[in-house]
Amino acid sequence: MSHKKIAILGAGPSGLAQLRAFEAARKAGVKNLPEIVCYEKQNAIGGMWNYNWRTGLDKNGEPVHGSMYATYGQTAQKSV
Ligand SMILES: Cc1cc2nc3c(=O)[nH]c(=O)nc-3n(C[C@H](O)[C@H](O)[C@H](O)COP(=O)(O)OP(=O)(O)OC[C@H]3O[C@@H](n4cnc5c(N)ncnc54)[C@H](O)[C@@H]3O)c2cc1C
Repeated sequence: MSHKKIAILGAGPSGLAQLRAFEAARKAGVKNLPEIVCYEKQNAIGGMWNYNWRTGLDKNGEPVHGSMYATYGQTAQKSV
């Protein structure tokens, strides 16, 4: 483990891709990887793809970030 520390803000697709890439590097034996912490302000990962029936503000007054809600219509599947 190197002395470098990295904070990833948000566990949406971008943050999760970063976590996956670093984990793949660790499993491949790459040395001196930074220490990584991912912060997510919602109560679940997934970012805009986090399925949530809530819209507007959550119980903490934060905007509900997800765009996947019960009445959202699309041609692709809602679960990813
Ligand atoms: C209706 C709709 C349909 C879409 N369809 C497609 C599609 O078919 N194919 C496709 O490839 N893309 C599609 N997109 C775009 C895709 O959803 C986005 O490009 C993708 O979600 C971006 O990922 P992201 O991780 O960068 O950001 P986000 O998904 O926005 O995730 C950001 C995360 O960061 C968190 N966050 C924000 N601020 C903080 C903070 N200060 N501290 C901690 N956490 C924080 C948020 O809570 C969130 O979880 C669509 C988007 C919408 C809205």
